[in-house]
Amino acid sequence: MPRIPRPADHWSLPQRWRWQDDAICRDVPDADLFFPKGSVAVPMTSEAEAAKQICRMCPVRLHCLQHALTQREDWGVWGGLDEGERREMLRKARELAEQAAAEGKEAADASAA
Ligand code: SF4
Repeated sequence: MPRIPRPADHWSLPQRWRWQDDAICRDVPDADLFFPKGSVAVPMTSEAEAAKQICRMCPVRLHCLQHALTQREDWGVWGGLDEGERREMLRKARELAEQAAAEGKEAADASAA
């Protein structure tokens, strides 16, 4: 998580960023693992796999993934998923939301008839 500097005081971080202070990738010497070159075209590089292994041990993995999904981070490994995996997760969520909306409309139409 090389984007923001490690604060001297954990509580100086705004609440919404505090999870980053517990990210284990902060202590990984090679932060480029999380942003492998060419990962858009070839997302399953050995660097990305190494980053994902680190993410599996991270106590803030869900916070990280939630951030990446809500902020539409479209580059690198966040929360143990590369950009292609996150795009697929968002696509499935959109499909489910559309399906639920369509089913809700059908039910409303049926009860109105
Ligand atoms: S889940 Fe991975 S990318 Fe996210 S903070 Fe943890 S180690 Fe870093």
